[in-house]
Amino acid sequence: MDIEKYIKIIGDSYYGYWDYLVSEMFYPSWHNYFWWLLGLSVGVWLLEIFLPWREKQAIFRKDFWLDGFYMFFNYFLFSLIAYNAISNVAVEAFNDFLGWFGIENTVAIHIDTWPRWTQFLLMFLLADFIQWNVHRMLHRVPLLWEFHKVHHSVEEMGFAAHLRFHWMETIIYKSVQYIPLAMIGFGLEDFFIMHIFTTAIGHLNHANLRITYGPLKYILNNPVMHLWHHAKTLPKDRKYGVNYGITLSLWDYIFNTDYIPHEGKDEPLGFDGMEDFPKTFLSQITYPFHKHSPEKTNKRGQPNLVKSTVKSVK
Ligand SMILES: [Zn+2]
Ligand SMILES: [Zn+2]
Repeated sequence: MDIEKYIKIIGDSYYGYWDYLVSEMFYPSWHNYFWWLLGLSVGVWLLEIFLPWREKQAIFRKDFWLDGFYMFFNYFLFSLIAYNAISNVAVEAFNDFLGWFGIENTVAIHIDTWPRWTQFLLMFLLADFIQWNVHRMLHRVPLLWEFHKVHHSVEEMGFAAHLRFHWMETIIYKSVQYIPLAMIGFGLEDFFIMHIFTTAIGHLNHANLRITYGPLKYILNNPVMHLWHHAKTLPKDRKYGVNYGITLSLWDYIFNTDYIPHEGKDEPLGFDGMEDFPKTFLSQITYPFHKHSPEKTNKRGQPNLVKSTVKSVK
């Protein structure tokens, strides 16, 4: 294995991302994630201020600044600190690994001759469906739920809660998506519009707004539906969770995981036992790596991490 090649990839990743981040922050343009994120955030926040669903909720709600930091961290800083280098190395290592078996190309289905909009649509539907499944697993697998708890520790919903999540989720989501998406030969390089669209819908899903998009609610996730995903009390027959949709609500309606018993404006949010959940950024992102007693981590109904020991009877 060519170690020098990998060291160069790591070095280039850091320099490259640093240059990218600096130019994103200091040169606003229509093709710039940093300013779009800022613009969308201010836009949705203004809607929350002027058309609030829960009128009593403060403009600077609980954890406003914490979530604001998560937003910047997860969208940019984590890539700078680790993600960009890790993913570049992983992609190279994956290709080297395939190379050992004489495989040079993972593309199994070529759609690069399709019209541009159909490629976009397929990519979007596929990515969203994979994310919906990953999200279900985050709730179902006890170890993954420990990471996902950060997102569910939100007590008052507002746009910035959208990007309050543990950095491990980025790694999990991206890894699971990589192979299926790499197998399809998308001819498109630039998914900028798709990213901005999904960021906008995600912000709105968490906002203090009463929006359901009329009949489009069966396709698009929305603040009323996603509020129930964050509800502290789950229906007895859905102990792992409900409304797993990311951008689309469609999958929940197809697979019967939808649940909106009523508007739920003041429904308590979170999970049982969250009194013991840490409150600061550093303690929250290190939380899953500590050992927890199964009683404490298990109140949402997930199976025990440690099964009760059954003594064998001779
Ligand atoms: Zn969730
Ligand atoms: Zn959420």
